[in-house]
Amino acid sequence: MSARQTIIPVFVPHVGCPNDCVFCNQRRISGAVRPVTPEEVSCAIQQGAAITPHGVQRQLAFYGGSFTAIPAMAQERLLGAAQPYLADGTITSIRLSTRPDAIDEETLLRLRRYGVKTIELGAQSMDDRVLQLSGRGHTAQQVIDAARMVKQHGFELILQMMTGLPGDEDGAASIMSARALAQLHPDGVRIYPTVIVRDTALYDLWKAGNYQEHTVEAAVSVCAEIVPIFETAGVPIIRLGLNPTEDLTEGDAAGGAYHPALGELVRSRIMLDRARALFIEVEPGSSVILQVGKGKLSQMIGQHRCNLSSLITEFALESIKIQEKDEKSDEISLLFVAKSEKI
Ligand code: SF4
Repeated sequence: MSARQTIIPVFVPHVGCPNDCVFCNQRRISGAVRPVTPEEVSCAIQQGAAITPHGVQRQLAFYGGSFTAIPAMAQERLLGAAQPYLADGTITSIRLSTRPDAIDEETLLRLRRYGVKTIELGAQSMDDRVLQLSGRGHTAQQVIDAARMVKQHGFELILQMMTGLPGDEDGAASIMSARALAQLHPDGVRIYPTVIVRDTALYDLWKAGNYQEHTVEAAVSVCAEIVPIFETAGVPIIRLGLNPTEDLTEGDAAGGAYHPALGELVRSRIMLDRARALFIEVEPGSSVILQVGKGKLSQMIGQHRCNLSSLITEFALESIKIQEKDEKSDEISLLFVAKSEKI
């Protein structure tokens, strides 16, 4: 999304979804408990328009449930409520999220008629066993078919995936899924490490000892492998980790990979991994300077200087300092200072 575009979110709660994924409690995640009405859509647009600075484009987004799993008439009522605002330029486009098995030709033609621009598909995994253990109710092939259809009909395609789902304890299915999703050439991806939300089947599985919690550390580790897969394929990562909400922060997130700065932790881990590769031939006892691109200093240092501590310990360094270059760059370079010499 461009810097001059903002989202007006409307949450379509679980009523739009025929399914019961083990991790999902849409009511808690979206904070919405009953079906949204056309009047509420109008109201959200008007309120969003009132607070958007001049010159910023607005996109209406139906998030939360599975929009195209709602009866067709209800979809048309909600989309219809947005039409006057689309016509007068109050909003410039519409996006929505849905399930891969709730996409077909007729649905896509309807969405096209109502000016929908972007479709987000919850793929979550490309491993059928993980999908089945997670109660997703669709297969990896259905993700492939839906993604292709969405693109063929000219929509912008965003794919969502999760890490740490049941059956993916070692992260291998997540990494395979990232590769498979990148091959579908989406216009963006969202990566959501699994959070254990209260009042979900996953919470019960976890409490019964039948699900291994996807810790923040595990999520950071697997996402540090996934992010480069998408970046190498030129797929923008538009979100990493659940958006923090008051409910989640205050206790609904009972366990799992819930961290308000997860994306930053992952970026920092990627920097650490890349720095590690540079240190392989550094002699123990060396004092070194690492150089990073502009704006990358805090990522390289890590929270509570954890990256520097790790490098010093792992490579038995005397000392390490980080310098920031004047220009932006992803490159990390290593400048040696003589062994045992203090910088
Ligand atoms: S498909 Fe989406 S809305 Fe439906 S149960 Fe699963 S996560 Fe929740």
